[in-house]
Amino acid sequence: MIGAGLSGSAVAHSLASRGWAVTVLDQAEGVGAGASGLPAGLAAPHVSPDDNVLSRITRAGVRSTLQRADALLQSGTDWALTGVLEHNLAGKRRLPKSDPGNSTSTSTNTNTNTNTGADLPHDMSTLASAAQIAAAGLPPETPALWHGQAGWIRPRQLVAAQLQTPGVDVLWGQTVHAIERRGALWTASNAQGQILGEAPLLVVASAFDSLALLNPLPAVTVPLKPLRGQISFGHMSALSDPQRQLLPPFPVNGHGSFISGVPAPDGQPGWFIGSTFERDCTQAPVRAQDHAANQLRLATLLPALGAAMHTQFAPEHVQGWAGLRCTLPDRLPAVGPIDSQRLPGLWLCAGMGARGISLAVLCGELAAAWLDNEPLPLPPALVKHLSAERFVRT
Ligand SMILES: Cc1cc2nc3c(=O)[nH]c(=O)nc-3n(C[C@H](O)[C@H](O)[C@H](O)COP(=O)(O)OP(=O)(O)OC[C@H]3O[C@@H](n4cnc5c(N)ncnc54)[C@H](O)[C@@H]3O)c2cc1C
Repeated sequence: MIGAGLSGSAVAHSLASRGWAVTVLDQAEGVGAGASGLPAGLAAPHVSPDDNVLSRITRAGVRSTLQRADALLQSGTDWALTGVLEHNLAGKRRLPKSDPGNSTSTSTNTNTNTNTGADLPHDMSTLASAAQIAAAGLPPETPALWHGQAGWIRPRQLVAAQLQTPGVDVLWGQTVHAIERRGALWTASNAQGQILGEAPLLVVASAFDSLALLNPLPAVTVPLKPLRGQISFGHMSALSDPQRQLLPPFPVNGHGSFISGVPAPDGQPGWFIGSTFERDCTQAPVRAQDHAANQLRLATLLPALGAAMHTQFAPEHVQGWAGLRCTLPDRLPAVGPIDSQRLPGLWLCAGMGARGISLAVLCGELAAAWLDNEPLPLPPALVKHLSAERFVRT
């Protein structure tokens, strides 16, 4: 395995749990050098009126992630199943309707709505109740959804826990410069040509950097792209009482996301707002203008809180973290063999985009089930949308 982020650690965990011996090579000196170093993020479903492929895959992914978090992480400090309120700005998000005549399952809810979501094809997302909208500090008429099976996660903790699975051996500080098939084995070597690892199966899970390893190989056409993002965060201890009183008791998304009461990287309870999106940028410095963009995001997402918290974006309070997401044009990851005919034994797990927390665990399970000829965790009609081979040109 090349890459010890959410993707690599998820595949490693799923394989090692099935008895495989997995060696993970990562160029960093420890967990969280890439996008998975994100201090805190959300596992939350995507909804669409036709319950489209992205919605169905994300829903399955969130379930897998929450189960994994429940099994491996400490609730309250590493993750929490809080539920997430989605502020349905511009009414863009619409729940699927199982009954075309059911007018309650639209985005135009009011505070009198009592829909429980029992009529929906799944039970993870409903219209938000008046009490949930009020708890977020939003006006009663605000259109909003409630994702009950959702919450926050600190990705580093999940990565670290998955890498601790017996059978997983992590070699830090190993920058893979080239990969090559020699006989029946794939080899990964460093810039000096020294072999860092060799195996009949090589899984490349090094996000956007995967491209540099894959490009020299013949016939590889996976169009990975970088998408820089920054979150802004601060300490709860710096908040005034009036600011604290406005904090929602659960994360809110819909225009970026706001999370509070979650340990910041230094362990102190923090608040977090993000994220920015910047295409075609391959570096991830923290920038002052991105704090300003996140401040605006908070003011749109939660207007009362945004107005009250403007002082917290002063340079002496606000902190930042930036990383590179790795995306694909259809907004879905690429998992599995890259080209089983021409490059047998070479697999990919990358392209998690802005949903690695929600998707990587499922992708790891998919890869391992596939390799072990088990029933797959998704129906074939969805698996084909994740298959890395969908990019092979014939
Ligand atoms: C600002 C921001 C906010 C986000 N918020 C959310 C959120 O709320 N919810 C959500 O689901 N997702 C979110 N994401 C997305 C999520 O963080 C990513 O999808 C996920 O972390 C990607 O994991 P990965 O393992 O594929 O990549 P990475 O975590 O980037 O891991 C790649 C690893 O490969 C290693 N590597 C690279 N090149 C080499 C090499 N040549 N040799 C050896 N090792 C190498 C790196 O050191 C790194 O450890 C966010 C991302 C950002 C940037």
